Amino acid sequence: MSSFDYDLFVIGGGSGGVRSARLAAGLGKRVAIAEEYRFGGTCVIRGCVPKKLFVYASQFHEHFEDAAGFGWTVGESSFDWKKLIAAKDIEVARLEGLYRKGLESAGAEIIESRAELTGPHSIRLVKSGKVVTAERIVIAVGGGANPHAALPGHEHCITSNEAFHLEKLPRSIVIAGGGYIAVEFANIFHGLGVDTTLIYRGKEILSRFDHDMRQGLHQAMEAKGIRIICSDLMEKVTKTAAGGLSVETLNNGTLSADQVMLALGRDPYTTGLGLEAAGVAVNERGAIVVDAYSRTNVPGIFALGDVTDRVQLTPVAIHEAMCFIETEFKNNPTSPDHDLIATAVFSQPEIGTVGLSEEQAASRFDEIEVYRAQFRPMKATLSGRAEKTIMKLIVNAADRKVLGAHILGHDAGEMAQLLGITLKAGCTKDDFDRTMAVHPTASEELVTMYSPSYRIRNGERV
Ligand code: NDP
Repeated sequence: MSSFDYDLFVIGGGSGGVRSARLAAGLGKRVAIAEEYRFGGTCVIRGCVPKKLFVYASQFHEHFEDAAGFGWTVGESSFDWKKLIAAKDIEVARLEGLYRKGLESAGAEIIESRAELTGPHSIRLVKSGKVVTAERIVIAVGGGANPHAALPGHEHCITSNEAFHLEKLPRSIVIAGGGYIAVEFANIFHGLGVDTTLIYRGKEILSRFDHDMRQGLHQAMEAKGIRIICSDLMEKVTKTAAGGLSVETLNNGTLSADQVMLALGRDPYTTGLGLEAAGVAVNERGAIVVDAYSRTNVPGIFALGDVTDRVQLTPVAIHEAMCFIETEFKNNPTSPDHDLIATAVFSQPEIGTVGLSEEQAASRFDEIEVYRAQFRPMKATLSGRAEKTIMKLIVNAADRKVLGAHILGHDAGEMAQLLGITLKAGCTKDDFDRTMAVHPTASEELVTMYSPSYRIRNGERV
């Protein structure tokens, strides 16, 4: 029996922390997990889950409109923001309960308190002041929305945290940023009837994505009525006498809105965590530095998930936790595999993507083939909705390996998950070609694009 109070102490009850604690406890280890707020972390409490529920809510008005083309007459409809918030809160509470139950059933001790490091093996529970010891410590405290403290008037703005709890739906909103959260919330608010403006500093939204996805989504969002301002910055936010907000921009004058939302990235949540006391190193962004096995520079202290700023995605944190358990408690050294992570942007239409964009592939390989299809989805024929789906496969001409797959359109996220398997398995374009189509679907296009739309040789389109 070790002299420590616990075999494992986990700080942070989000996706990575809960998975680590539950699996270790299930192996018979003496485990405690401390959480200062609610179990479930960003994903369940103020991220992926409530966001997706909001996405569904925001799509109904288009469904009602589309129904007419199929013979339906839909009566007058109205939307009740408070009802949506209440229903969402119930679902979030249910999921939080499941997280707690999983921990309890596995035998982990749940500690409802902030926890801070006091040394390489010791932790202070802030609520009680008690200091406990553990052989291993996992830091999985996640991140928080970048408050953009340099922006005058940033205190008047909301982030995605508050967007989930607004007392009332604003009539208008300006959203700053061009990443996942800005784009997803611009579509959500617009879909719920809010006059929405997106302001982004770069030339085109979603800077790390394939150019066809970026342009295609930009056009689709504008066609719906979302105003997108690129190459611009907010310089100042002030309150108006009428109770609204006024946004001074660098290039586009002054914008007015009921709310201003900042979606400018998320920062690791490491301030005040006692990292200095324990000697844990952080990088210039405050993220905990880890090696390929999620080990910090201090033996016995590990970090995983968003706090390490590797890839800020829920499934990545969970995967890192599972690798940690394999390595430390199952004698099976396993490092997380961060290659070819499929991901989705729940914009409207969605983006689903895995692997290299056309630009990335063109800069890394001598010759690539680009297979590109653009078409009107079948449902839009009768609904009359002007929308298009774009699908792209990026192939290395030398060995026919599919390097990237990108989809803009309905259910693109669902398709990205399956494409992720094919790219992970190293499938070639020939494997795609000899796969029978599922008809009539949109995804059949992925296996019926027989000739390249164009090639890029030494960086030049031919
Ligand atoms: P992102 O990193 O996706 O986007 C941040 C955006 O803010 C970028 O457009 C960036 O511009 C811009 N930006 C950053 N700093 C400034 C600044 N000082 N002034 C002006 N613009 C600025 O972060 P998000 O906040 O959207 O999301 C955080 C993370 O959460 C994402 O990285 C993602 O991993 C995860 N997430 C995943 C989702 C999903 O899987 N569907 C959904 C939501 C979040 P630039 O591009 O020029 O750097």
